[in-house]
Amino acid sequence: MVSRDVSSDPCNDCGYCMPCPNGVDIATNMRLWRVMRREGVTAALRSEYADLRAMVPQWRPGFSRAAGDSPAGTHAGACRDCGECEARCPEGVRVIRRLQDLAAALSG
Ligand code: SF4
Ligand code: SF4
Repeated sequence: MVSRDVSSDPCNDCGYCMPCPNGVDIATNMRLWRVMRREGVTAALRSEYADLRAMVPQWRPGFSRAAGDSPAGTHAGACRDCGECEARCPEGVRVIRRLQDLAAALSG
């Protein structure tokens, strides 16, 4: 059985893993992952994740609404597995795996 204890989670919300070239709000998704581990998939978690999905990733390099760029959202499902965040994380967090877990549990 997988432990639900996340008290020893190395992720400390430092944000060094950002920005993501695809606009994923990594730190917030890491926080939602911890909530999911602790409380399961609740209505509140679904609501917060839906907000991320609807959010425009303003900081994405090259993003231009005026140029008709299509925002992909800031949710875990927008990850394209490039690995930049994991290379920047000083704590060695398996960011991609966590994003995949979160996206799978919340239907992308
Ligand atoms: S994944 Fe790593 S770099 Fe990103 S917020 Fe957590 S500890 Fe910081
Ligand atoms: S692996 Fe995913 S979340 Fe991390 S920087 Fe690349 S696209 Fe963004």
